[in-house]
Amino acid sequence: MAKVHHLNCATMCPYSARLLAGEGGWREPAKLICHVLAIESNDGIVLVDTGLGTADCSNPARTGGLFRVSTRPRFAVEETAIERLRGLGFAPADVRHIVLTHLDVDHAGGLGDFPDAQVHVFRTEMQAALNPGVREKLRYVSEQWAHGPAWVPYETEGDSWFGFESVRAIEGLDVEVAIVPIAGHTRGHSAVAVRSGDGWLLHCGDGYFHRAEMEQPPEPPPGIKLFQSVVDLDRKQRLANQDRLRRLNSEHGSEIEIFCAHDPLELERLQAPAGS
Ligand SMILES: [Zn+2]
Repeated sequence: MAKVHHLNCATMCPYSARLLAGEGGWREPAKLICHVLAIESNDGIVLVDTGLGTADCSNPARTGGLFRVSTRPRFAVEETAIERLRGLGFAPADVRHIVLTHLDVDHAGGLGDFPDAQVHVFRTEMQAALNPGVREKLRYVSEQWAHGPAWVPYETEGDSWFGFESVRAIEGLDVEVAIVPIAGHTRGHSAVAVRSGDGWLLHCGDGYFHRAEMEQPPEPPPGIKLFQSVVDLDRKQRLANQDRLRRLNSEHGSEIEIFCAHDPLELERLQAPAGS
């Protein structure tokens, strides 16, 4: 069974805890994290998402004023994927593949720290980031891929993963990894499924933001709903796909470990040693 590390590769402290976490003070900052997977495979380390990178930490301005003011990132270099991996005993060159849920600033920031890695992404999302429309221009930071990554774009061709369209990523890998498009937050936003023993991990990126959104009925803190509707590209699509994820969780929650990019308690739960 592939060893999977659950990392936090950027902490953000937006206002306020009461609005975004549902507890704590109105004037206390909340804590959001950037959940990154590092999978040990026969072809080196496979990252799922990258959080913020070292160049974002040394030059926060490049991430854009809107992002900085609304999410208040720590820009702590010790949280970047490259430093987290060093802490686990891996070298940057060990990262051969990166699979992305989407190309927003807080997911693609680490790309430049692994310039030789292949970057696997849903083609629609790559097109959105490289040729953004008017409403998309603010969210993507092209400096994050100015080094010219080895892009590997994917299209779906009728494969099904628990009723979702999907496409298998990275040929020849001894771990099953699939890109599962769930558009709405961005044009080509995807979840990433990783086979883990008898079951699956499903990294939902920004398909939802708070664990309560996967419950029936969903009752997330009010600020979470508001934030998502401010940053989504297509609200109707996002809500429909979130509904499908919720159904997936209620029907297959025992086989699939579902989590999103930014919920700190989901990360804590998955970082806890088995059985604890
Ligand atoms: Zn995000």
